[in-house]
Amino acid sequence: MHQHLPLEKAVALLLEHNHASNASETLPLSQALGRVLAGDLFAQIAQPPFSRSPLDGYAVRYEDIANAGPSSPARLSVTQEIFAGDAPQKPLQEGEAARIMTGAPLPVGTSAVVRQEDTDEGGETVQIFETLGKGANLCLQGEDVQKGQPLLQGGSFLNSSAIGILAGQGLRQVSVYPKPKVGILSTGSELAELGAPLAEGKIYDSNLHLLCARVRELGGISKGVVAPDVPNTLLAELETLHAENDLVVSTGGVSVGRHDYMYEVGQKAEASPLFKGVAVKPGSPAIGFLKQGKTILCLSGNPFAAFATFEMLAVPCILQKGGNRHPLPQRSGGFLENDFHKPSPCRRLLRASLRDGKVYLPKKHASGMLSSLVNCNCLLDIPAGSGPLSRGDAVTVMLLR
Ligand code: AMP
Ligand code: MG
Repeated sequence: MHQHLPLEKAVALLLEHNHASNASETLPLSQALGRVLAGDLFAQIAQPPFSRSPLDGYAVRYEDIANAGPSSPARLSVTQEIFAGDAPQKPLQEGEAARIMTGAPLPVGTSAVVRQEDTDEGGETVQIFETLGKGANLCLQGEDVQKGQPLLQGGSFLNSSAIGILAGQGLRQVSVYPKPKVGILSTGSELAELGAPLAEGKIYDSNLHLLCARVRELGGISKGVVAPDVPNTLLAELETLHAENDLVVSTGGVSVGRHDYMYEVGQKAEASPLFKGVAVKPGSPAIGFLKQGKTILCLSGNPFAAFATFEMLAVPCILQKGGNRHPLPQRSGGFLENDFHKPSPCRRLLRASLRDGKVYLPKKHASGMLSSLVNCNCLLDIPAGSGPLSRGDAVTVMLLR
C-alpha cells in the first residue's frame, strides 16, 4: 500500500483495476443523448445517399455550356423538372438541361449545375450565361461519409452532433454502456437532514447532494446514504453500497480525529488499501481501496476537499466505468488574473475559472467553503514548492468535465 501518492499515480492505480462495463444496452436514438456508445459504428449507407444538387438551378452537361457568357448564352431544352424527394425521370442527353431544386437527385449524365441566377430562369428552354468546369456545383454521393467508413468509435459520448450523425444513417437504435452506478456515503455525526431544524453543532449535508448531483451530471446513477461516525453503522452502509454499486465514494472521517473511522471500516469490510493519502492539498488524507474489483474511495469531509479529490480520483473512474476512453481531465495553460499570496510547499488545487486564456480565482479558497465554487470550470494546479503567485503568471489548470 502506498502512502501519499502523487495524484496521477493514484489515478493510474485506480484505473488499472476499474474496467468499463462489458454489458451494453440498446436504446432508441431519441433516448441516447448523454450516453456512451458501446461499440465502434461504421456507416451503413453513404452520406449523402445519392448525388444531388446543392442549389436551385439547372443540371447540365458541362460541354453544352462551354463558351457561354452574358452576351453569348448557351440555349438548352428543358426536358424535366426534379424536386427534392423526386427521382429523375431520365438521363440528360446532349443539348438538354433539367430544372433542379436543392437536394434533388442529379439525372445520369449531369456534369455541372448552373445557379438559377446565372440563367434567364428558363421555361421550355433555358439560356445559360455562364461557363462551368466539369463537376461544378455537384454534391456527390458519399462525399460526407462513405459506406463502410468508421463513423463513431466505441466510447464516444453521444452529444447532439453524434445523435444527428446516427440519425443521418437511419439508425433507430443504438447500443450504449450501462450508466455507472455510484454509491455516495456521507459520514459525520454533525450532518442534519435537509429541511430539519438545525440543532447546535449540526450542519446540513452538502457533500451528499453535491456529489450525487455530480454523478448524475457525468451520466451516472447515484445512490446517497448518510451515516453518523459509528463504526458498525459505517461498515454496514459501506458494505451495502459496495454490493449495489460499481463504485463507492465516502466523505468524512479519513483524517486523524478520534472519530475518523473510515480506514478501519474499509479494512473491516475486507477491502484492500491501494493507497493511503495523496500528495495534494486539500484532501490529502484520501484513501483508495479495492474490494472484489470495485473501487472504494474515502475522501475528506471538507466540502471543497471532497469536491477536488472527487474530481481528480473519482471522476476518471466513473467515466471509465461508463465506457469513456479518455477519462482523465484535460490540462490547459493560462495566465493568472489575480494574485495568490500563500506559498504552496505541497501541490495545491484551487478552484478557478478559465476564460479566454485567463485564470480567475475567486476570493474565498478555504477547503471548508463552498460558496465560491459556483461558476468555476477548472482546478488550478499549483506544483509543490511554489511561492506566492502573481497576476500574469503562467499557470496550468485541469478542466472540469
Ligand atoms: P472530516 O473529514 O470528517 O474531518 O470533516 C471535515 C470538515 O468537513 C468538518 O468541518 C465537517 O463538519 C465537514 N463535513 C464533513 N462532511 C460534510 C458534509 N457531508 N457536508 C458538509 N460538510 C461536511
Ligand atoms: Mg468527521
